[in-house]
Order: sequence, then structure tokens, then C-alpha cells
Amino acid sequence: MTASVAFVGLGSNLGDSAAIMREAFAALGGIPRTEVLATSRLYRTPAWGMTDQPDFLNAVGMLRTELPPQALLRALLEIEREAGRVRLDDGSDRWGPRTLDLDLLLYGDRVVDEPGLTVPHPHLHERAFALLPLLEIAPDATIPGIGRAADALAGLACDDIQALPCTTAAPPRD
Ligand code: ATP
Ligand code: CA
Ligand code: CA
Repeated sequence: MTASVAFVGLGSNLGDSAAIMREAFAALGGIPRTEVLATSRLYRTPAWGMTDQPDFLNAVGMLRTELPPQALLRALLEIEREAGRVRLDDGSDRWGPRTLDLDLLLYGDRVVDEPGLTVPHPHLHERAFALLPLLEIAPDATIPGIGRAADALAGLACDDIQALPCTTAAPPRD
């Protein structure tokens, strides 16, 4: 089985988001037949969609994986569950506060359009909070069907998105 490079977007705005994101990066490294090649800094982002909620932290991880996209997504959803994410059955919590959100942003140059999985992530090219951390670790990233990620970012406002200093991401000392 050949390996592919995939990018995963992380988001959290409930609980100790920085700690949750650190644990999520570690959990990504624990996915079978998958290794983490790079991780971005954490970016603080005002909430998108439903704005009446705490700010988000966002980040992106670069993976090398032998899992097909569907199996990788299943692993991501399992990590979300382990981080305590609760989904309401009626979907009304979409864009609401969550402990951890993991989105499969890119999977090599593959285009997947199936029930339950769309790759590239359909909103990647219009979300500065995803593009900024993606470009930090993959400046040449391209979004199949869209074009260069850097070009997508160029048309977006991103002054309200702030990269946290690396020290902020260190484990708390107590
Ligand atoms: P958005 O997708 O707009 O960022 P969201 O992340 O809040 O919204 P979720 O409630 O986390 O949406 O996901 C709903 C469903 O989206 C998931 O159960 C999953 O099956 C599906 N999905 C489709 N494509 C993807 C993808 N590329 N990455 C993650 N989930 C996806
Ligand atoms: Ca999302
Ligand atoms: Ca999601």
C-alpha cells in the first residue's frame, strides 16, 4: 500500500483547548499506519458561523498515512469522541462549541465526494483559520479543483487570526 500525505484541521473552543489540541496531535500519531510529519502552531480565531461562543483555537497537522481516506476519517471521528465531543442527533450543534473538531482537509491530490466524506474539505479554500496553519507547514499546498492554497488565502481577511507563541503550546507546569 502506498502512503499519501494528508492534512487534518484541528479546532477546539470548549475546555482547555490548548491541552486538548496537544493531546489530539499525539492521538494523530497513534493512528495505525500513520505518522505525523509536521504540526502547525495554534491559532486563535473568533468563532465562525455561530459567533456567540468562545474563540476557537485552530491548527493543522500533516500526516503520512497508508490508510484510505474513509478509514482515516473514521479514526479522526474516534479521536473526537475520545476527546469528549458530543454530537446532538438533530445536528443542531453544527458550528457550535466543541471540545475537538478534526476535519480531513486534503488527502494527497485526491478528490472524494461520497456520503459522509468530501475531500478536499468543501470550506477549506474560504477559511483563513484553516489556510493559515496549513500554509505554515506546507507553503506550496494546492487544493484540487481550486488551486494554490496561498492564492485562496490572498482573497480572505485574516487580521483577526493570531498565531500563539510556541511556548503557549507547552504543557502547563504545576
Ligand atoms: P464543517 O464541515 O463545515 O467544518 P463541522 O466540522 O462542524 O462543519 P461536523 O459536525 O464535525 O461538521 O461533521 C459532520 C460530518 O461531516 C461528519 O460526520 C463527517 O461524516 C462529514 N464530513 C464530510 N467530509 C468531511 C471531511 N473532509 N472531514 C471531516 N468530516 C467530514
Ligand atoms: Ca469543521
Ligand atoms: Ca468536523
